Amino acid sequence: MKRSDSQTMQITTDFLVLGSGIAGLSFALRAQAHGQVIVVTKRTAAEAATSWAQGGVAAVLAPEDSFQKHADDTINAGGGLCHEVVVDLCVREAPEAVRWLAEVGARFSRESEDAGSFDLGREGGHSERRIVHAGDISGREIERALLDAVRASPNITLLEWHMGIDLITLSKFGGPDQCAGAYVLDEQNGHVTTILSRATVLATGGAGKVYLYTSNPDVATGDGVAMAYRAGAEVANMEFYQFHPTVLFEPRAKSFLVSEALRGEGAVLRSLDGDAFMPRHHPLADLAPRDVVARAIDYEMKRSGVEHVLLDITGRPADFVRARFPNIHAECLRFGIDMTREPIPVVPAAHYMCGGVTSDLHGRTTLPGLWAIGETACTGLHGANRLASNSLLEGLVFARRAADRLASVMPELRTAPHPSVPEWQTGSAAPSDEAVVVSHNWDELRRLMWNYVGIVRSDARLRRAARRVALLEEEIREYYWRHLVTRDLLELRNIATVAQLIIASAANRRESRGLHYTIDHEATLDEFAEDTVAKRGVLPHLRGR
Ligand SMILES: Cc1cc2nc3c(=O)[nH]c(=O)nc-3n(C[C@H](O)[C@H](O)[C@H](O)COP(=O)(O)OP(=O)(O)OC[C@H]3O[C@@H](n4cnc5c(N)ncnc54)[C@H](O)[C@@H]3O)c2cc1C
Repeated sequence: MKRSDSQTMQITTDFLVLGSGIAGLSFALRAQAHGQVIVVTKRTAAEAATSWAQGGVAAVLAPEDSFQKHADDTINAGGGLCHEVVVDLCVREAPEAVRWLAEVGARFSRESEDAGSFDLGREGGHSERRIVHAGDISGREIERALLDAVRASPNITLLEWHMGIDLITLSKFGGPDQCAGAYVLDEQNGHVTTILSRATVLATGGAGKVYLYTSNPDVATGDGVAMAYRAGAEVANMEFYQFHPTVLFEPRAKSFLVSEALRGEGAVLRSLDGDAFMPRHHPLADLAPRDVVARAIDYEMKRSGVEHVLLDITGRPADFVRARFPNIHAECLRFGIDMTREPIPVVPAAHYMCGGVTSDLHGRTTLPGLWAIGETACTGLHGANRLASNSLLEGLVFARRAADRLASVMPELRTAPHPSVPEWQTGSAAPSDEAVVVSHNWDELRRLMWNYVGIVRSDARLRRAARRVALLEEEIREYYWRHLVTRDLLELRNIATVAQLIIASAANRRESRGLHYTIDHEATLDEFAEDTVAKRGVLPHLRGR
């Protein structure tokens, strides 16, 4: 444990929320009537994967659609690992969740100016039109509406540039196995605040930055998973990382995603010589589930040794393309690509973490006092593969469920005083003197994850990756204990933990299922139709439900 210095302080609250995406902000808004909420977020509040979502939120709203169809589509995508109880509650609670968002202020696209009904988009894997969207900037609009409401609430304190370092577990100080808050780094002055809370909610999003190519924003470094794992909570299904098939291939465009909705509206994937290759890979051709599409692109790229493929929507009228995809159209134009007249160069990239911190029907983790919602949680909705536009939905549904449950227990929780815990210790740690160690390990880690633990895996590659990450992790740990914490160092430490969890979970699953595809075990086996669970000190293993 590092020694205390004078640059620390302690604050208390009812609810501590880490993360300001759809899950964290929705939770805060739902919980504010039941106590004081602090939301900490490691950059500006809108820097979240939520802001980048283009497609929208899946919900059954069309007369020809049904909960059963939405559930079937989700389960078909999930490779036999969806928890059907969770699927059922999510699809049933989706329409209310979407209407709540609209009431909070999200301006979704409507069928016509005065019609009350939402304009519903269609995406790969969905058998009906059910994607509620705001043009092609759905996430930006949702984040705007939620943030406006959060900023207007007197019961919510939003702390930007504050990064959760570690959860406070009372067992470390001789108390019960209980989370009591988090140590939080104020990035602007380097001070560490001890925030004690009656309920701590992880809503820290995904971990796309563990891979070299990702559609995710820079904040997606798996902090929630790493913190929960270090604190002793159970983590599940980390081998299932979804790769989005189509990110713009343009070095100057940082992680710009070309939405799946394009293929929903008729865009076709082509090799560089113009061949439409998807019909050879799946009966649904360009509307196949995204893991099939990502693998097909990976195959076509490796087969012909090219760096990208093409996505072609020139078959649709230019006016339609400009009106339906104004943001993608404008972004492509910035790089000299007019998508109404020429195909868009695209590559696959790490996109969505299906695994995460195990949480139950109310968002509770296996560590008392700790809750996990949104992408950082593993609720059982997605199983081995996520259906497009089910993740914003999951964030909304579980934010509400967690807030409802906590509202009912908060009066009782409030009867006990906050525990007394030591402040953050810095010991003899010195300011970081060799930033190159951080930047080098960061690059090496992400590249090896991309090359050895990416879309197509093998036993040998996983073994190689495990050896190298273990070395990197040791170096990072040593550096961590000798130096004062900075965001870069904390993020590096977290992606190393997440990488180890992904590798160990993938090595344990000696079959191919959903997003986990290995050339050494290509069959899907009944004996593996179980979740992978891992916990500090316990290697990943399968567990039935
Ligand atoms: C380009 C793109 C397009 C997508 N399109 C869709 C779509 O159309 N439909 C759909 O359903 N899903 C989509 N997704 C997925 C979806 O956006 C995410 O799964 C969802 O937004 C996750 O929400 P969240 O609240 O869990 O996390 P996020 O929105 O990622 O928010 C996480 C928050 O946690 C903060 N944070 C992280 N670590 C810490 C820490 N240690 N301390 C403090 N704060 C921290 C971050 O700064 C951020 O504010 C898309 C994702 C991307 C990247």
